[in-house]
Amino acid sequence: MSKMSSLFNTKKKNIYNLDDKKFFLAMKENCLFHYKNNPQYKKILDKMNFDPNSLKSYSDLEKIPFIPTLYFKHHNLLSLKKSRYWIKATSSGTSDYNVSRIGLTFTDLLRGWKMIKNVFSYHRLWSIKMHRCIIFGYEPHRSNERAIAKTAHGFTFLSPSLSKDYAIRWTKDGYQVDLDNIEMKLIKYSRGKVPIRTLGFPAYTYFLLKQMKDKGIKLTLPKGSIISLGGGWKSFYKEKVDKQAFYNLVKEVLGVDDNHIFEFFGAVEHPILYTDCRYHHFHIPNYSRVIIRDVETLKPVKNGEVGLINLLTPLSIGTPLLSVMTDDLGILHEEPCPCGEKSPYLEILGRSGVEDIITCAANAEEFLKGEEP
Ligand SMILES: [Zn+2]
Repeated sequence: MSKMSSLFNTKKKNIYNLDDKKFFLAMKENCLFHYKNNPQYKKILDKMNFDPNSLKSYSDLEKIPFIPTLYFKHHNLLSLKKSRYWIKATSSGTSDYNVSRIGLTFTDLLRGWKMIKNVFSYHRLWSIKMHRCIIFGYEPHRSNERAIAKTAHGFTFLSPSLSKDYAIRWTKDGYQVDLDNIEMKLIKYSRGKVPIRTLGFPAYTYFLLKQMKDKGIKLTLPKGSIISLGGGWKSFYKEKVDKQAFYNLVKEVLGVDDNHIFEFFGAVEHPILYTDCRYHHFHIPNYSRVIIRDVETLKPVKNGEVGLINLLTPLSIGTPLLSVMTDDLGILHEEPCPCGEKSPYLEILGRSGVEDIITCAANAEEFLKGEEP
């Protein structure tokens, strides 16, 4: 078995027990694979005088040249023949020019599936009980390739569902946000006994709850209901509220405690599933690592310091996603978490100071320019 597959076969009980040696071997194997199979990726590494064979130990991983997420939006960086790809995911950018094109092979998907199965069962999110699903996201439609629609739709299979309602519905005029319909459904379902599961963009969930609060609506969702969030705040940064205020709002309007609120994090360019713990921290699973880099020098900073989030994973042979640089700021915390997990946790601060970051990401892209084969 390849080192990469062996990493994704990490046992469920060990997903937050980081095995650095296993991770290093899988990363080196992945790096060598893309170096041999992807001329464009090889050019980038050669230009930066980096030879994957020089990787000797875990601490060398920070030397692998990172690819900015922006780069995937402007270049086709696939490593294999078209026929090898089972899925082409696109990120939720605002225009075609802004979306990343990431190809995943059958093996990539299999590894991803093993990870998802383990992470969800570790956090006890599978359920055989009947639920009602409310998705604060896009109703699936063949015109929508956006990964988030696929992800949110996939979520509705975590438990058998009696009904599925989407906040962004497909109409003859395209996608329309319809929060009033969701409000009506929540009121109706809260009178029943079937637990409700919600998933989706935090911003829409927040807007609806605020609207309901302003109307003086106070519900108690059926026992076992879960509120889950994923997909980021996107263009709603101005409305961003702190987590505690959000949990209080959920409790007030829907009668759901914060231990029934889950948050997910992942990206098209880094298809790893992060789920928050009981204390709402994103612990790093064995499938990935995070390096925080100084905004100016791009050198790794100490744990606890703010910097750009650099995400590492050897999941894909379809696309060289082994080290991607986001334009988000974050902090890696190593202090013990009351939940007992030993792996460090990532705090995502978002794109505050967005202009500096754009400059930085653009510089990084400039650096890689002209690498088209
Ligand atoms: Zn924790």
